[in-house]
Amino acid sequence: MNLLENKNKEREPSNADHRLIGQQLDLFSINEEVGIGLVLWHPKGTIVRKIIRDFWEEEHLKNGYKLVCTPHIARGELWKISGHLDYYEENMYLFEKDEESYVVKPMNCPFHIQIYKSKPRSYKDLPIRYAEWGTVYRYERSGTLHGLLRVRGFTVDDAHIFCASEQIDEEILRILGFAEHILWKFGFHKYNVYLSTRDPKQPEKYMGSEENWKLAQKALAQALKTKGIAYREMPGETVFYGPKIDVNIIDASGREWQCSTIQFDFNLPKRFNINHIGPDGKEHEVIMIHRALLGAIERFFAILIEHYRGSLPVWLAPTQVTILPISDSYVQYAEQVREKLAAYGIRSEVDSSPSTISYKIRQAEVQKTPYMAICGKREAKSRKISVRKHGAGNIGLLTTKELIKNIKTECHR
Ligand SMILES: [Zn+2]
Repeated sequence: MNLLENKNKEREPSNADHRLIGQQLDLFSINEEVGIGLVLWHPKGTIVRKIIRDFWEEEHLKNGYKLVCTPHIARGELWKISGHLDYYEENMYLFEKDEESYVVKPMNCPFHIQIYKSKPRSYKDLPIRYAEWGTVYRYERSGTLHGLLRVRGFTVDDAHIFCASEQIDEEILRILGFAEHILWKFGFHKYNVYLSTRDPKQPEKYMGSEENWKLAQKALAQALKTKGIAYREMPGETVFYGPKIDVNIIDASGREWQCSTIQFDFNLPKRFNINHIGPDGKEHEVIMIHRALLGAIERFFAILIEHYRGSLPVWLAPTQVTILPISDSYVQYAEQVREKLAAYGIRSEVDSSPSTISYKIRQAEVQKTPYMAICGKREAKSRKISVRKHGAGNIGLLTTKELIKNIKTECHR
């Protein structure tokens, strides 16, 4: 799969810049001792990452994918077969051990192919869909690195689909519907879609049979039409091994970001010599589709926090409720509230600092916590909490149960 490009120009830092928000909200950092382009996810960033991943994995299991897990390094031999050592070496991290060469993986595809290849596959087994949050490393020139948008180590929400040629229409339609479902959940409803096809004047430039290219390009265009998705066709814009669809989301500031990619590959199945046994008992080719929905997680995370300017929706917020005792006397009550929220899976924190309540409220606003629960005399006496919602102000005196219900409803919206 191609490197995920950022088509927007380098910008001056603004208050919506993910690097600034990341620092203010203590989400992540990048440090020269570790290495530029390598991300350290802090506890608050990690919890958001986990929520995204848990959601993503559950949805994949519901939608017929199998989760897999593959190593971070592999023998040079593997990358020789895949062709990466010949065509992609300058972007790869290589090292030697016991006179054997190794590569830190720049892609997950060869591993998924090896799992497919681990036993004979019949037409009855197809389609096979392998999904993985696969962390890859690619060398990028230092001048091109930019916050989380352009890094050297990142995780792709990767999947590879292996199917028979008669299954591709159905598969592409499914992937497209699934991509929409996932992107909508994160609040992205607008996108520009590009269908990249081969240059009809130079068919010799491409791998794969005439028939497969026609089938694949037709399947991609047809799925977009069936879904009623407007798209722009880009003849000659695809890579040599297959046509593709790119879904570029448009964020709150109207900027365009490449996220989902659905890409046919007529090259790797040949290189690794994979196939399936058809109903006739003979070997038939297997069609391989690469697919990422969010793209690189680091990049997606940057887009997400810039889109929401740090105020993540409650289902994603690292801290959903900040509990604010008015004074030391109410810290114990605040702790009881925290325990109750935790029992229902709500992420909350108690601010037991000696600051004034107005200062604590300001701090929670700066941290963009969706809810604040204030605990004072009136609240402790009535066994309730005074609730403030970020951006909406005071919403009244609620029981902990009522607040939990509000949050759960909001999370499932
Ligand atoms: Zn791939």
